[in-house]
Amino acid sequence: MSTYAPQNPHLPFGDQRTAPWYGKSIVSVNQFSREDLTYIFAVAHEMREMVVRIGTFDLLKGKILANLFYEPSTRTSSSFTAAMERLGGSVIPINEVKYSSVSKGESLPDTIRSLECYADVVVLRHPQKGASALAARYARKPIINAGDGAGEHPTQALLDLFTIREELRQVDGLTVTMLGDLRYGRTVHSLARLLSLYNVKINYVSPEVVAMPREIIAELEAKGIPQAEYTALEACLPETDVLYVTRIQKERFENPEEYEQVKGAYVITPETLKAAKERMIVMHPLPRVGEISMDVDDDPRAAYFRQMEYGLYVRMALLAMVLGKA
Ligand code: ASP
Repeated sequence: MSTYAPQNPHLPFGDQRTAPWYGKSIVSVNQFSREDLTYIFAVAHEMREMVVRIGTFDLLKGKILANLFYEPSTRTSSSFTAAMERLGGSVIPINEVKYSSVSKGESLPDTIRSLECYADVVVLRHPQKGASALAARYARKPIINAGDGAGEHPTQALLDLFTIREELRQVDGLTVTMLGDLRYGRTVHSLARLLSLYNVKINYVSPEVVAMPREIIAELEAKGIPQAEYTALEACLPETDVLYVTRIQKERFENPEEYEQVKGAYVITPETLKAAKERMIVMHPLPRVGEISMDVDDDPRAAYFRQMEYGLYVRMALLAMVLGKA
């Protein structure tokens, strides 16, 4: 495990203080080693078995999660809620920040320091890159980054990787093609970094204005990951094992004309998939707004709804880990 994960000495007794992730914040995927991932996925597997067998169990009974969302969310916020409740814990939902003190001008560190008086862990989504790292500096309880602007979305990347492993049984040797808004899409920033722990090839397909940030490409290049950039999917689709489609992130464009130029740039249809491998999977962090036609949903390669279910087990694993129960 990297030393990046902040240590936290201020936690209550009665938990497994020696558990490696106990009390730590999850801010960036750069915190994880390959061994950590093997461990997280093993715990996620156990969670899945438990949910299938008994539905809800009391591993986190008495623990409270604060779900603090400054940006809209459907899947992330509800899957963290479901994860906590399936583990017997409870949730303080704060997703309409306009009704909270934030609308009175309260700073993020103050909001966090107040919430942690009531909760054992805080899940935070915020429009500013770096917001979770800032919160983790002030917090005495673990902060889980649920998306910081165009920065990272580490729990999504973990569930994405878990999906790839579950669906294709391996990660090494695969070619992953990321398509769409690679500039503002935080999920692909985190996933590319996480994939760099494996022996993979990554293709980036996007309009030039929303290309993958240079610093991420340089980071992966330094690790020896083969990468290639395209503006059209056709050139790299036949070699692709995982097609990871993203939404053009309208809300992050400073110039609306730029958005108009690239919206609708790619649409995956059954026709597109004719040129793809039989065993390829199509992933998407959702929501989709037209980049995958609904006609694709019945194709067995369409993995995006299964991906969301895997997210529940991974988030259950992460909560159990930072609360010292795994
Ligand atoms: N739900 C993902 C996110 O929060 C993807 C998206 O919004 O397009 O980043």
